[in-house]
Amino acid sequence: MTDAVLIIGAGAAGLYAARTLAQAGRRVVVLEARHRVGGRIHTFTDHGFSAPTEAGAEFLHGAVPLTRGLLDEAGLTSFPTTGTTYQVVEGRIRESEDFIQNVPQLLDQLHALPHDLPLAEFLTTYFGDALHAPMREQVTRFAEGYDAADASRASSFALRDELSGGGFDDSPHPEGTYGNLMARLATAVEAAGGEVYLATAVREIRWQPGQVEVHSQDGRIFRSPQALITVPLGIWQAAAESPGYLRIEPALPAHRAAAASLGYGAVIKVLLEFKDPFWQQASPDVQQPMPDLSFLFSDAPFPTWWSQLPDPRPLLTGWLAGPAAYRRRNTPEDELLSEALASLADLLGTTPAFLRRQLSAHRIINWAADPYALGAYAYTTVGASEMRATLATPVANTLFIAGEGVYDGPYIGTVEAALTSGADAAHLLLNP
Ligand SMILES: Cc1cc2nc3c(=O)[nH]c(=O)nc-3n(C[C@H](O)[C@H](O)[C@H](O)COP(=O)(O)OP(=O)(O)OC[C@H]3O[C@@H](n4cnc5c(N)ncnc54)[C@H](O)[C@@H]3O)c2cc1C
Repeated sequence: MTDAVLIIGAGAAGLYAARTLAQAGRRVVVLEARHRVGGRIHTFTDHGFSAPTEAGAEFLHGAVPLTRGLLDEAGLTSFPTTGTTYQVVEGRIRESEDFIQNVPQLLDQLHALPHDLPLAEFLTTYFGDALHAPMREQVTRFAEGYDAADASRASSFALRDELSGGGFDDSPHPEGTYGNLMARLATAVEAAGGEVYLATAVREIRWQPGQVEVHSQDGRIFRSPQALITVPLGIWQAAAESPGYLRIEPALPAHRAAAASLGYGAVIKVLLEFKDPFWQQASPDVQQPMPDLSFLFSDAPFPTWWSQLPDPRPLLTGWLAGPAAYRRRNTPEDELLSEALASLADLLGTTPAFLRRQLSAHRIINWAADPYALGAYAYTTVGASEMRATLATPVANTLFIAGEGVYDGPYIGTVEAALTSGADAAHLLLNP
């Protein structure tokens, strides 16, 4: 392989970089551990569900130009979520889109902050009195539930920027699923002469300037002058010899230290398809119906739920994120299902037994337990920009790094972040 680039990981970052490079005439070989492309984008069609369902990424957050570019190329668009947002806190239900009370007061204080602080420290320093206990709880719940962040490490400046930028805007679904976009990228890579090897987990990367030797778990060896590593932050953070650990020899201590200091949150996604949308109206079995339910935010153990509106399909998605999801990473799926059903039953004023009778399909996706993700997506810690830049720094024009975890900008933790990092890495490879 003379001018080939080995790309490790066929998620959004790896595939976007692979397509860019292949279309620019570079030879690319993509090595992917899973039996499918897409990584943390995973649209599945089995498990008894009636239609394609998103196990990972699902929404478009913001303008997302590269993601929209992929949709445009496919002649597809996006459709907005519709319906009513509910909140249930301490058993009281209300229709409301305000996650946090006193946002102006919070923002004033955040804007006055001279230097960044971990969010938990900011809250106790500036809003530590009893009067602000609800606000502290709401902000923490938002950081954990939406950003999958640990408030004791999350950046206050990141929350400031998120809230100032209208962080709660509408989040449309891509038409035709995210998985479709990944399949199209993989097809384009192959059409441009690239190769994609599935079920090829990389165990070790040995390198010297201008030479890379990649060893797969099953003993194959791939050689090339350059490699692009797009594995998730969780893989970079994995302790030596623990599951998921990817050995790099000689080691890259500055890159590993940078990865360790970055934030990477956990998510457990619970997909429940029912026989019909029973939550829409009151019945002897459902005391607290939620007509037109779009999103539901609560203080229940499984706090966040949403429907597929405007698609009438009777699917409810449960969401647990942040430290609480991480603590449950080893919890058996049966137990997680029971916990999720108990939360949903409480919120709707029904029983888990009723919900079980209504279920037609279910699936729990515990992303922190997934050996090739070890988490869900990045969040911003204090000092993250510098650390992301360090992790993204190419080594001797030989090793390049991409993936949503190294992205720094307005789309942290998204598909757009991954695509942008893939585009940036391809640019560096093409313009040394
Ligand atoms: C539950 C959940 C919900 C999300 N919701 C949204 C959303 O609504 N909107 C949004 O924009 N984003 C969302 N995201 C984030 C988005 O999915 C990710 O940011 C993006 O898909 C990451 O792409 P990536 O290419 O950087 O990483 P990945 O998709 O993880 O790709 C990396 C690839 O590397 C492979 N790999 C790992 N280890 C090895 C190895 N040793 N050898 C070979 N291959 C390896 C992995 O299998 C994977 O395919 C969500 C993520 C999750 C988990």
